[in-house]
Amino acid sequence: SAPLLKVNDLQVSFKMFAGEVQAVRGISFTLNKGEVLAIVGESGSGKSVTAQTIMRLTPSPPSYIKAGSILFDGKTEVTKLTEKQMQKVRGEEMGMIFQDPMTSLNPTMTIGKQIAEGLRKHQGLGKSEALERAVELLKLVGMSNPEERIGQYPHELSGGMRQRVMIAISLACNPRLLIADEPTTALDVTIQAQIMDLLRDIQQKTGTAIILITHDLGVVAEMAQRVLVMYAGKVVEQGELNDIFYHSRHPYTWGLLSSTPRLDSDRSGELYSIPGTPPDLYAPPKGCAFAARCPHAMKICRERDPEHFSISDTHSSACWLNHPDAPKVTPPMAAGG
Ligand code: SF4
Ligand code: MG
Repeated sequence: SAPLLKVNDLQVSFKMFAGEVQAVRGISFTLNKGEVLAIVGESGSGKSVTAQTIMRLTPSPPSYIKAGSILFDGKTEVTKLTEKQMQKVRGEEMGMIFQDPMTSLNPTMTIGKQIAEGLRKHQGLGKSEALERAVELLKLVGMSNPEERIGQYPHELSGGMRQRVMIAISLACNPRLLIADEPTTALDVTIQAQIMDLLRDIQQKTGTAIILITHDLGVVAEMAQRVLVMYAGKVVEQGELNDIFYHSRHPYTWGLLSSTPRLDSDRSGELYSIPGTPPDLYAPPKGCAFAARCPHAMKICRERDPEHFSISDTHSSACWLNHPDAPKVTPPMAAGG
């Protein structure tokens, strides 16, 4: 059957006073029904813009879809929908969980009302039915005393509970696609684990597909089936979990894996520490965008964009080292070889 989502050569730019920021520079990937796909990369790699563009949530202007296609369920061309059509898709097919629930919850409205709102609008439920369903959803996301909770306001809840409420709201429409953008970054480490357990549990119960955006490879390992690695607005490597964690063929991924805090340390959530900084996306460099930071950069890397070399049916890497005539380089041990 058709994939749930097929993104083809998507390009998204922001027209700013100083010039055009090329945030997403031609990415392609598919997401199958019920699949969990992780998008990883440093901040500024274009992963959030990609997610927000799928939901058509980037402000326009200044952002615009410069080229490419986002085909949902084999028939809906998301890039062509009006805001009104898109509201329907967001209310019925796609849900999104953001990093900071406080910015997406309405502080002046009880959480019961906020969950019920979407149910009434998109599923035509009456007031009491919608509140009943809100209670069920709060149970589903593991909130105790849901009957009392529905009368509370966001500020009366802890950060972890607010995130549970956000998850309940995103699940209200029985979405076939859930996008979670750094869903635990703003939370304490112990609460992070609980929220990830919850998401995994919900995925298994509902069978929804998830795009999980994160800089935490520990979270990826626990939850995703496939991984896209993004750098400077492009996909530089993609593959199944095993391909990326144990057989990566891209120096940027090696860097991410080497700088990932150990799972048993309390440093999870710490930012990557690959030396150097990503390129300026007002004026992306010629050739491989990682060349300035790559210990293996060759002359060709600075001249020509690397092709997407196919490593296997499931795995591809946009790095010249995969060319048959390139020098053989051994990945660092920390990258798993
Ligand atoms: Fe490094 Fe060249 Fe590969 Fe880019 S293409 S990651 S610069 S070796
Ligand atoms: Mg982000």
